[in-house]
Amino acid sequence: MKKYLSLIALAGMIFSCETKSPEIDYTQLSDAERLEVAKEIAQSTIMVDGHVDLPYRMKVGGFTLQREILDVSVRTPDGNFDYPRSKEGGLDAPFMSIYIPAGNQAMPGASKALADSLILMTERLAATFPDKFAMAYSPAEIEANFAKGLISLPMGMENGAGIEDDLANVEYFQKRGIRYITLTHGKDNLIGDASYDTTGTHGGLSEFGEKVVAEMNRVGIMVDLSHVSDNTFRDALAITKVPVIASHSSVRKFTPGFERNMSDELIQAMAKNGGVMMINFGGSFIDSAYAAGSAKVREHLVNYMAENNLSRSDSAFRAYAEAYAAANNPFPTVQRVADHIDHVVNLVGIDYVGFGSDFDGVGDSLPTGLKDVSMFPNLIAELLKRGYSKEDIEKICYKNVFRVWKAVEDYAAQQGG
Ligand SMILES: [Zn+2]
Repeated sequence: MKKYLSLIALAGMIFSCETKSPEIDYTQLSDAERLEVAKEIAQSTIMVDGHVDLPYRMKVGGFTLQREILDVSVRTPDGNFDYPRSKEGGLDAPFMSIYIPAGNQAMPGASKALADSLILMTERLAATFPDKFAMAYSPAEIEANFAKGLISLPMGMENGAGIEDDLANVEYFQKRGIRYITLTHGKDNLIGDASYDTTGTHGGLSEFGEKVVAEMNRVGIMVDLSHVSDNTFRDALAITKVPVIASHSSVRKFTPGFERNMSDELIQAMAKNGGVMMINFGGSFIDSAYAAGSAKVREHLVNYMAENNLSRSDSAFRAYAEAYAAANNPFPTVQRVADHIDHVVNLVGIDYVGFGSDFDGVGDSLPTGLKDVSMFPNLIAELLKRGYSKEDIEKICYKNVFRVWKAVEDYAAQQGG
């Protein structure tokens, strides 16, 4: 029986045999043994995360100048991402979100200017710590960085508003290193309608948006359909020549009525297109009961602050708020995230799912066991417990998104002659 094998022998069987070794039945291991295997897999496999909001966290922290960055080369007391924790968790290529709030859309030029400054900040991070971080503009560069032990910083622009009203900016941002563009953020923009908006400005993708998608295909930028309305999603899928991604979206089945997550119909349509859906870990994205509880907790705390003359920054208030939230709205767990992955796999197969944590972007809502980038092995262990193979895990970690990214690169190369 497999359980008589020592863990070291097991690890040897799993990791040193390039040829087909007898399949290990991970479900037969103890939780502790499985976690060790998960850590090994996390370290030995490239791991991509579709969405980490570090650039905006740096900006909000006041690190707006090109000469000054937040030092995430060392462990940071706040936030969900830094170099030591990323190494611990085996995360190798977090997509840095170049996030443009919808508020910028009201000021012509402001969205592009912000995108430029966040790109500079990300480049500055890599340049300041060249022994820890490196920019990466292709799967091949991520592989090369991984071989050197460096954490890659690929970039995706969250909100196509950065393109402003000028199609030429699509190629501009490709040259600046942007490798996916999330067509919208919270509000409808010139490209199309957003899931959080109810205006229905265009009824889906706009005429300009159609040109943007075609241009993204042409220059080799992945089309990211997180944040768009269902109509925009369908319109974009209908015209794209290559597979798409959802960089940080979860399954709507667990959050009925929440258009920001993907319906089964859209998951199936995306799979047909060959795309990949990268699961968001935020509590409100994975569990509607938690989302409803959060709203109630917020309401209570606002009243409590007013009644007791407290402000959000008072330490007494913060302690109360934490205890109140814990007692009245417990966090979901890492198992819930695995439920989302299971759902996609059961619906369309293993080839269309990945990780898109939204770390540094969803506040204090992350599930127990998945609070920061160091905890990815807990999720991998849970998947192993549910019968996923090492090959399955590799697909989720990077092979699925690399397949899409390479298809996008190949198509763009053909257009260039
Ligand atoms: Zn987002």
